[in-house]
Amino acid sequence: MQNTSPPTPAPIIVAESVHKWYGQFNVLRGVSLSVYPGEVVVIMGPSGSGKSTFIRTFNALEDYQQGTITIDGIAISDDIKHIDRIRQEVGMVFQQFNLFPHLTVLENVTLAPMWVRKHPKAQAEAAAMQLLERVGILAQARKYPGQLSGGQQQRVAIARALAMQPKIMLFDEPTSALDPEMVREVLEVMKSLAGSGMTMVVVTHEVGFAREVADRIVLMDSGLLVEEANPIDFFQHPKEERTRQFLAQIL
Ligand code: ADP
Ligand code: MG
Repeated sequence: MQNTSPPTPAPIIVAESVHKWYGQFNVLRGVSLSVYPGEVVVIMGPSGSGKSTFIRTFNALEDYQQGTITIDGIAISDDIKHIDRIRQEVGMVFQQFNLFPHLTVLENVTLAPMWVRKHPKAQAEAAAMQLLERVGILAQARKYPGQLSGGQQQRVAIARALAMQPKIMLFDEPTSALDPEMVREVLEVMKSLAGSGMTMVVVTHEVGFAREVADRIVLMDSGLLVEEANPIDFFQHPKEERTRQFLAQIL
């Protein structure tokens, strides 16, 4: 007999029982999470709960002492070849944009494709212009980051990450450093990216985005994953007392 049910895709991120210490301080105390291709997972939780540390392990920006992490079938290990391959598959956007201030917007976006991927300049620029159009920044291509608003800079940072054609995008509080009127333009770009099928892990306190865009929301607290649910269950029927306490503070 033929099996007619659609194949279950393998998760593209598998973190199993990840433990990390900063000296004596146990920042991750056995965190497990699987993320499937095309999924948008939002991580919420109080400041200091280990959210940044956890997602930074996915592209080897942080090491860890116990557990395993596999990205698209590649195990993170000390082997530099693995780390290079994983970094090419995983794009990251930070709270503080981290653009190169002495390079133009266009140069920020073409830098890695030219120097890491060895794309010719004309090809890298053509691809960058398309990405800048996609995030609504095309008119600013020749400007420097300092001449742009925070919201525009963050959209450039997203374009720069996308220029490496990642399979996964990590966002660490991408709107937390922005003035309120600029938050929406960045969330709109992220929403459109989610709609295009990108696998995304997003640390954010933006409840509206989490409700509307997340497939799953996880709550972290004190280095542990406390609860994991779809947005409706997470916000309306949280199982854990800790989640209820957290929601009472942010809603
Ligand atoms: P979150 O992103 O949830 O706010 P973090 O992952 O940034 O949390 O940090 C979790 C905890 O680890 C915090 O208590 C923080 O002070 C601590 N921490 C983060 N980075 C370091 C570091 N490099 N050395 C020591 N402690 C750190
Ligand atoms: Mg953080």
